[in-house]
Amino acid sequence: MKRRLVLLGAPGAGKGTQARRLAETTGIAHLSTGDLLRAAVAAGTPSGKAAAAHMQAGRLVPDEVVFGVLFERLAEAAQGFVLDGFPRNRAQAEELDRRLAQGERGLQAVIDVEVPDALLVRRITGRRICKGCGRNHHVEFVPSRQAGRCDDCGGELIQRADDTAAVVAERLAVYHQQTEPLKAYYRTRGLLTTVDGTQAVEQVGAGIVEVLGSGVAGAAGNR
Ligand code: AMP
Repeated sequence: MKRRLVLLGAPGAGKGTQARRLAETTGIAHLSTGDLLRAAVAAGTPSGKAAAAHMQAGRLVPDEVVFGVLFERLAEAAQGFVLDGFPRNRAQAEELDRRLAQGERGLQAVIDVEVPDALLVRRITGRRICKGCGRNHHVEFVPSRQAGRCDDCGGELIQRADDTAAVVAERLAVYHQQTEPLKAYYRTRGLLTTVDGTQAVEQVGAGIVEVLGSGVAGAAGNR
């Protein structure tokens, strides 16, 4: 089974959901730069202070700040990793290659989770996240039983500040301009596979498991 992978795809494509499932079923580390940066902002660290305004505006956080929150964690991921939200531009992809080459732990797969823009906008603007446990709900697609409360833990459901329509437009523009060209970068290395991200969560997950090869299918089938 391949254990060192990148999930590529626009905001709202379902990378976080799939990465979480994969981490649970395989034990590889789920490394989301968005989550790491949000934690840094919440903790008020220097990285968080440097990142906050960029995140609120839907722009990319400077590479050095992202490297600072990510690479220490990546070095600890001895069982493998699924990167979610990184790399997001060419400089980050090249830096990742350099770091992984040092440990002879090169990428084994890059999976592009593809979803049309119109659906991405609906998915992101309707997304609500539990303050308590982090579970995602959606006002239209995954409504909670009790309005504003998480089905799992009863925690308060909130909208991420950068999930509003205006910021989403900026995030999608940044994706198309800076991140989408990475498809070609990885395709030429023979690493890229595209999975249809409009399918149900389970089907997208099965597509990813297929790319990763034997050793995951049994575990994923238990969920
Ligand atoms: P995400 O949760 O992946 O949608 O990320 C939320 C925000 O965090 C993005 O809109 C960026 O401002 C910032 N961010 C996350 N990952 C990166 C990255 N690899 N490079 C630059 N900024 C990032």
